[in-house]
Amino acid sequence: MARRENRTYLMGWSSIFEMNSSVTQLTASGDVKDTWNRPLRDLRISVIDRCNYRCPYCMPDEVYGDGYEFLPRRHWLTPGEIKRVAGLFMQLGVTKLRVTGGEPLLRRDIVEIVSGLNELPGLDLALTTNGALLAGLAGELKAAGLKRITISLDSLDDAVFKQMSGEKGNIANVLKGVEAARIVGLSPIKLNVVVQKSKNDHTVLDLVDHFRGSGAIVRFIEYMDVGTLNGWRLDEVVTSKVLMEQIDERWSLKPVEPNYRGEVAQRYVFEDGQGEIGFISSVSEPFCGDCHRARLSADGTIYTCLFAKQGICVREQLRAGASDADLIGLLQNLWRHRTDRYSEQRGKETTKKVSKSRIEMYRMGG
Ligand code: SAM
Ligand code: SF4
Ligand code: SF4
Repeated sequence: MARRENRTYLMGWSSIFEMNSSVTQLTASGDVKDTWNRPLRDLRISVIDRCNYRCPYCMPDEVYGDGYEFLPRRHWLTPGEIKRVAGLFMQLGVTKLRVTGGEPLLRRDIVEIVSGLNELPGLDLALTTNGALLAGLAGELKAAGLKRITISLDSLDDAVFKQMSGEKGNIANVLKGVEAARIVGLSPIKLNVVVQKSKNDHTVLDLVDHFRGSGAIVRFIEYMDVGTLNGWRLDEVVTSKVLMEQIDERWSLKPVEPNYRGEVAQRYVFEDGQGEIGFISSVSEPFCGDCHRARLSADGTIYTCLFAKQGICVREQLRAGASDADLIGLLQNLWRHRTDRYSEQRGKETTKKVSKSRIEMYRMGG
């Protein structure tokens, strides 16, 4: 039966202004800090809520079957609207921008989106993809101005990879995509690996072995309790510490400094000079204190936390001719009132029941 996700509680244009009635005309731009003194530096843009995979930890097939109703295409922000919102975020301090989804390469205008964003000066622009369609698009994306890319790849074992992608993925296509990215000069190439106990953890060392010395940076992500539909269980999380010890036992690792404050991955290099790997410990070592990230969904809803239950939709305002000053005022106000620190609060209580009103990750942008 067709299901429509109806848990997106949207706060209106007026209600966010009511949060601070003294704010009537906000025109000033520049750095803005939230209630925990965190600046806004990073924007993730989900350009589409659809995907050609059904990874059970993200979009389980039993929920997102053939009849599932995704966002209507007319609600997708256009490349011009995406560029405009990104430009406004930059005026508030954003310097890093990641295009994601759903699967961003399913958008037919993805090259136009990237090329528009690339026209914004001084932006560190990246894209995250499952890689299935990358071989055919890497050259155009590079020519459109994309510098670096993250490709998700949970295992090199055919059967395990198939299972992790909900029986949709083909490992050979992804590897062709990785190779195409290398050939056209997207750099660095990062490879995201979500690790789930008894699903793909036994294939981790092979994956590291394959990419060691290739220049690609493998990053292990702890399986997170995002959304409400993946049936997350704490006992399926393989912590970064466990993985790091396993890898270090085989190839000695040494920690290196983060590239910048707030970098989510803890970086390590192989002592024998064969490159770098990273660990994203969102569950075991939350990094909310340095979280400088907002998210924009394909339909123009802005979220300030991956675990948000609500966001603010700016699509209607964009289409009704809202001025830049009005939109900047809204974004400033939203960030100034931000209190999010879900992962820290979750802390050790990871067994508690998942709130049924959270927005799914593929929707707000992973
Ligand atoms: N479809 C693209 C992809 O898979 O790379 C982009 C969107 S996906 C939501 C972005 C990242 O989120 C992927 O690397 C994926 O593995 C990760 N992800 C999705 N669900 C997750 C979960 N429950 N825990 C940890 N990471 C997750
Ligand atoms: Fe699709 Fe990416 Fe989610 Fe997998 S993780 S279902 S590829 S959006
Ligand atoms: Fe940022 Fe929310 Fe994740 Fe904490 S839980 S790091 S505030 S996105």
